[in-house]
Amino acid sequence: MKTIGIIGGGQLGRMLAMAAARLSIRTVILEPQEDCPAAQVANRHIVAAYDDEAALFELAGACEVITYEFENVPEKSAAILSGERPVYPPARALSVSQDRLTEKTFLNDSDIATAGFRAVDTAEDLAAALETFGGRGVLKTRRFGYDGKGQWVFDGSDNNPEAAFAALDGAPAIFEEWIDFDREISVIAARGMDGTIVCFDPAENVHREGILRTSTVPANVSSQTGAAARAAAERLLIGLDYVGVLGLELFVARDGRLIANEFAPRVHNSGHWTEAACVLSQFEQHIRAVCGLPLIDPVRHSDCVMHNIVGDDMERIPQWMTTEGALVHLYGKAETRAGRKMGHVTVLEKRRDG
Ligand code: ATP
Ligand code: MG
Ligand code: MG
Repeated sequence: MKTIGIIGGGQLGRMLAMAAARLSIRTVILEPQEDCPAAQVANRHIVAAYDDEAALFELAGACEVITYEFENVPEKSAAILSGERPVYPPARALSVSQDRLTEKTFLNDSDIATAGFRAVDTAEDLAAALETFGGRGVLKTRRFGYDGKGQWVFDGSDNNPEAAFAALDGAPAIFEEWIDFDREISVIAARGMDGTIVCFDPAENVHREGILRTSTVPANVSSQTGAAARAAAERLLIGLDYVGVLGLELFVARDGRLIANEFAPRVHNSGHWTEAACVLSQFEQHIRAVCGLPLIDPVRHSDCVMHNIVGDDMERIPQWMTTEGALVHLYGKAETRAGRKMGHVTVLEKRRDG
């Protein structure tokens, strides 16, 4: 039996710990917040900051392999841990994905198209980028953004670039060309230690106020688009010499082009439906990969829609509890706050294609 160390104690860490428990694999989490979602499930909780050196050595000493639930693991921590135990996904996946500039550059170098982009370090850079992209696009902080935070949309009218640049407060940024998309999709893919790659079916994702609201499977895309999305994820996994599960977010542009937005070197919110609609979940696939166990072809037995339960959506839980085909999954967070992900519900339907 193995013990896995997990950096981060949020809902993703919790669901990883649940999947590990099903395989009789123990988990130790490193998370500064005492009352965190994963603490209710993991076998052990080291309460310390992610860059606390003594805690990092304690974590390494307590497990045989280390993984993480978020991409902002400090680079130094990843280096310390990598010297002690295997860390999967590899530290390179962290360093590439932590910065939108290196991430987009890596995607392009892997022959995966992205929106056009420019680094923005000065007000002049922003003015030049606006000029290049016809005044339309998104200014994003290069690091630490999630759920649409640290982003300013420019829609072609007078969007006050001075105020947006000032709001960056000196943080390095990137300006991205605006993509008129028909839909957004994602691919949850996994690579095992032996190089085997398997992909879950692409999901179609709807965001509101920068936060994922629903993932619908199957996505309403052609089989060619679906195959191209999988192929992009495969190239990325190979390029990173990856082990584990990865989520790749893509736009399907109005003109049919497939354009990568970003990737997460971890299990992904748009893959939560897999626990209800597939023979195994993205969480189990990840645990299998990082433990060197065989990966499974993630056959989908049902069509489904996953609804994120964000903030006040909690009021609808009693209704979801009695909805036919609805699997409710709550994260054990004591306090409901606006914009906070509290759980998700996956509603299953019969597969229309048999
Ligand atoms: P996540 O929580 O997924 O990590 P994030 O904060 O990293 O989110 P992005 O995924 O870059 O942010 O953007 C959030 C959403 O904003 C996207 O899913 C998409 O709906 C929209 N968006 C981002 N970039 C663009 C773009 N260049 N053109 C059009 N829409 C965009
Ligand atoms: Mg992101
Ligand atoms: Mg995103």
